[in-house]
Amino acid sequence: MVVEQINPDSYKRIVFFTGAGMSAESGVPTYRGKGGILDKYNWQEVASQEAWEKHPKKVLKFHEKRRTEGLKCKPHSGHKVIADLEKFHPNVWIVTQNIDGMHQQAGSKKVVELHGSVWRVRCPKEGRVWEDSKKTKYSRQKCKCGSWLRPDIVWFSDYLDTKVTDKADEVISRADLFISIGTSGLVWPAAGYPARAKSAGAFLVEINPEPSEQSNYYDKVYPGKAGEVMPQLFGVK
Ligand code: NAD
Repeated sequence: MVVEQINPDSYKRIVFFTGAGMSAESGVPTYRGKGGILDKYNWQEVASQEAWEKHPKKVLKFHEKRRTEGLKCKPHSGHKVIADLEKFHPNVWIVTQNIDGMHQQAGSKKVVELHGSVWRVRCPKEGRVWEDSKKTKYSRQKCKCGSWLRPDIVWFSDYLDTKVTDKADEVISRADLFISIGTSGLVWPAAGYPARAKSAGAFLVEINPEPSEQSNYYDKVYPGKAGEVMPQLFGVK
């Protein structure tokens, strides 16, 4: 596969749109694709409001497993390329579907987390959010009001936070380079973002070893892994 190098200075706003495949080489399992978590778990049982209301402890256990796995993982060269780019280009953004905090661990600051983070908890009644990171187990289980604190994550069939989607819309609507990495393009509304970037006039690049639902929108498709394609794309040795 020949990867054509991109000159970031030719673009005013660069948006990286990332999904679970971005973290696959860090060791974080994806949901779908080869070896995905959904082969082993039924999401209705572990990552939905209904499951939370029926058995919060089981749901917390599933997310504590994600934290245990996350603590063993480190960002890879693809994450680092983005973080380094942000240091010298004034307008580099990440819109991620990931909940693993791996971009921030690599040093990225401008990260829009569409689906929340496994490293935060939220009171479903009062809406307050707490950082709760660096440990396998959640350190707080209940709010002062008595409610169970849930992982600050958008579960299947939850609504997304409109403040977060407004930010993603704003960032994408002014992108002139949109690079999608490791997303199957099956989860909405994120799955609509490539089309939005296209109608904003951006140049679209996709990195994914397997074709995605949106591959036909992209100007360039690289059927490879994030950690291999990203350094080549930006000429990093
Ligand atoms: P997905 O699991 O549906 O699809 C992953 C995609 O990544 C697949 O298309 C696969 O071909 C591709 N992929 C696998 N290895 C890759 C690699 N090395 N480089 C590039 N691409 C690779 O992921 P999704 O589209 O993000 O949707 C899943 C949902 O599940 C998201 O909403 C996300 O919140 C959540 N999720 C997050 C994580 C995480 O935070 N790391 C992990 C699993 C699931």
